[in-house]
Amino acid sequence: MKLMLHVAPKIVRQPLISSVIIETSALINIERASIDAVSGEIVIEVSPDKCQEVREAFERRGVQVLMLEMPVIRDEEECVHCGACVSICPTGTFRFEDWAVVADSGKCIQCGACVVACPHRALRLILKQPQMDGATTIGP
Ligand code: SF4
Ligand code: SF4
Repeated sequence: MKLMLHVAPKIVRQPLISSVIIETSALINIERASIDAVSGEIVIEVSPDKCQEVREAFERRGVQVLMLEMPVIRDEEECVHCGACVSICPTGTFRFEDWAVVADSGKCIQCGACVVACPHRALRLILKQPQMDGATTIGP
């Protein structure tokens, strides 16, 4: 399962990931990271059996954790199979198959690049936080 970690400025210089790995013994794969001196946004992949334990360990350290439950969503009626998303996706989520663009949503790390690149506004992302009713939508 994929988790997005939002790291606040006051803890961004702490060894958060390594300490969570040591505490939980979870294998954590870093799929995307944008970190500077003042904040951080990191997407990690964790096995489903460790997901809850890892999420709680990060939250105890002050990290805001979002579960990336929904992969990228495509409006099939709007998609014109132009291939812009194929070119820009860093994880190879999209590919051409018999002149049509198909998606393997399990590869998506929700970076949002394809949402911006799609000329027909056919793509969107939903970020949902566990134990909360609200969801954030990125895209049309
Ligand atoms: S960029 Fe948009 S319109 Fe083009 S193939 Fe991808 S989803 Fe379809
Ligand atoms: S948000 Fe779009 S570009 Fe980014 S990983 Fe997911 S499918 Fe690929």
